[in-house]
Amino acid sequence: MSKTIQLADRVENLGVETAFLVAGKAATHAAAGNEVYPFHLGDMNLPTPPNIIEAAYKAMRDGKNGYTPNAGIPQLREALAAEFNTTRKTNYNIDNVAVQPGGKPVISKFLLALMNPGDEVLYPNPGFPIYESQIRFHGGMAVSYPIIPGEKNFSFDLNAIEEAITDRTKLLIVNDWHNPTSAECSAEDRKKIAEIAVKYDLTVLLDEAYFDVRYDGESVSLIREPGMMERSVILHTFSKKYAMTGWRVGAALGPKSIVDVIAKLNVNDESCTSHSNQYAACEALQGDQAGARKILTLLQERRDLTVEMLNSIEGINCYKPNATFYLYPDVTEAMKNAGYTGYQPFLDAVLKHTGVSMCARTHFGTPLLDEKRKYLRLAYSGIDKEMIDKGLTRLKTFLER
Ligand code: PLP
Repeated sequence: MSKTIQLADRVENLGVETAFLVAGKAATHAAAGNEVYPFHLGDMNLPTPPNIIEAAYKAMRDGKNGYTPNAGIPQLREALAAEFNTTRKTNYNIDNVAVQPGGKPVISKFLLALMNPGDEVLYPNPGFPIYESQIRFHGGMAVSYPIIPGEKNFSFDLNAIEEAITDRTKLLIVNDWHNPTSAECSAEDRKKIAEIAVKYDLTVLLDEAYFDVRYDGESVSLIREPGMMERSVILHTFSKKYAMTGWRVGAALGPKSIVDVIAKLNVNDESCTSHSNQYAACEALQGDQAGARKILTLLQERRDLTVEMLNSIEGINCYKPNATFYLYPDVTEAMKNAGYTGYQPFLDAVLKHTGVSMCARTHFGTPLLDEKRKYLRLAYSGIDKEMIDKGLTRLKTFLER
């Protein structure tokens, strides 16, 4: 007997994290016996610091294996509030923190808590593809604003944000230290974004997944601007700073009224984040930071090598960003010289002939109408220096042949 399964209409609107699709193709290429140079996914091939691993073992041995309070263990919520009060100058307490299984769930829970069907939500394009997917999946209107090339790096098009606002705009998503371009807000940008949020009474999701992945200077959060603490939820994750992508620990921090709803969503979804991993996250925040420093040093070395090698390829132009582990080079001329107009045939040919696996601009939203230049996105978090060198040498040979 066969039955036709009728899926819910909303499934039509569910997107994917496109980098995982590229990873699938790379895996197939590798399974056929080819060497693959993985620049596609923001995953990490660096070890989680040993003191964090030991804290998880200890928690398990000590019997921390049951459910926890839905918003997380008090020790971790307190440690997070204290960390944010130091690094962001907030005045959070435990009530402002809901622990999450990773940073990503904060996106859907923020929308579920605040967005009614038909509400307009502003989000960056190019941008992390889950924003658009989740806004549309939950019945909102996804309205993008551009991230544009500037003199030293990409930047937020603040005029476009204001122009896109209508009387149905309710929420704004800002990803400072931006995936995929590594754009970051200047002091002036932060002031202007906060003014816009206050003027139009928007509630804001600050995706700060890369706050701590910074090589020079100091990360300053938008939360410090007047009016932002009472209208913003911060997406925090342990994934990147401590190489803990698979541990799934993160948090939502913001006004109690929103955090309470997010904790109620925890009850309905996962019940709680892994008990022992929450103890490991406490160690990450309060224990020895040598491991985190080492991760950052290695990432910086990879960044320097990748940028240098990309810029040595004819027709490629790459900024050297101060934060995140992504590069977003302009490859317009290189693609033209190699005889490609479309991204997919280009990526397929590069994978086939060189083993280099990367994402393109199109994996981060639909290109804007007036967008003429072509871009790739390379993550250097999951590939060591030797492989970067080998892969990009092969790419250079292929493109300059
Ligand atoms: N936000 C951005 C911009 C990201 O790039 C990522 C991961 O790549 C996340 C959120 C989610 O990270 P995680 O769920 O691993 O904490």
